[in-house]
Amino acid sequence: MKLTIHGYSTALFATWYFIEELGILFDAGDGLVSGLMGKCGKIKKVFISHADRDHLTGLLQYNQLFSHIGPTIYYPKGSQSFPFLEAFTKKFDPHIQGTFWGPIDKRQIIPVKEKISVESLENEHVYTTEGIIKSLSYKVWETKKKLKTEFLGMSSEAIKKIKEEKGEPFLMEEQKNNLLSYSGDTPVADYARFDGTKVLIHEATFLTKEETQTKNDKNRHSSLEEVFEMVANCNIEQLILGHFSSRYYQEEIDNKIKELIAFYKIKIPVYRMPIGKISKAILDGKPIN
Ligand SMILES: [Zn+2]
Repeated sequence: MKLTIHGYSTALFATWYFIEELGILFDAGDGLVSGLMGKCGKIKKVFISHADRDHLTGLLQYNQLFSHIGPTIYYPKGSQSFPFLEAFTKKFDPHIQGTFWGPIDKRQIIPVKEKISVESLENEHVYTTEGIIKSLSYKVWETKKKLKTEFLGMSSEAIKKIKEEKGEPFLMEEQKNNLLSYSGDTPVADYARFDGTKVLIHEATFLTKEETQTKNDKNRHSSLEEVFEMVANCNIEQLILGHFSSRYYQEEIDNKIKELIAFYKIKIPVYRMPIGKISKAILDGKPIN
């Protein structure tokens, strides 16, 4: 399935990614509505990764202009910022109705359209006491039905007969494809988490492992070095890197990406979100390699 992805992602300032064919938005930082304008009307479901302000301040204007579409805004259920924001928007813009606010837990599956669903995964960005979910990553799944291997190669007549006798579940099995994964903000925890995803959108706030390890921030992030080490150890078809810190020059980031692509002999296309700029139709653009 072709995915048209538009987005903006610079650490501290704003992050949002819109997947046009699926009508889903991951995070809703500043500049979402002014960047996408009328296209915001195509958003059906919003999935917020965590309550840092650079991931949610676009919601106010989005909600004001597009609540009539009846979107749902999903957010990590342990995060108290969202009920406050919901209550505030309802008072601030009382004419607004139609938006549904939905707290979600880890490992929840939300259907978004036929055959497509989004799964929430707990990540390690926000440390919390056990059981409280304040930050999430998301995976998009496509579920297809296919003929079980033992029936492959049979004539269509034979298959029709079996279907009549034993029913469809006897013949068919479900196949799940991980079309896309969105890390949200998170350190790299394990290589298996995004293994097998077709398109991975991953944060890379810093350039080196050392920077993530010496940082004393309450909320933890990834570096390019850690993301590439993970990508080199799993099966991914396309990579979009974002959430870079604006402390770096664009050239520094690009050079580091090229260095790591060469070091790990990465063959898949790698795209990066430019500091301070919107990227439209990211996967139709030129990869960095
Ligand atoms: Zn962030």
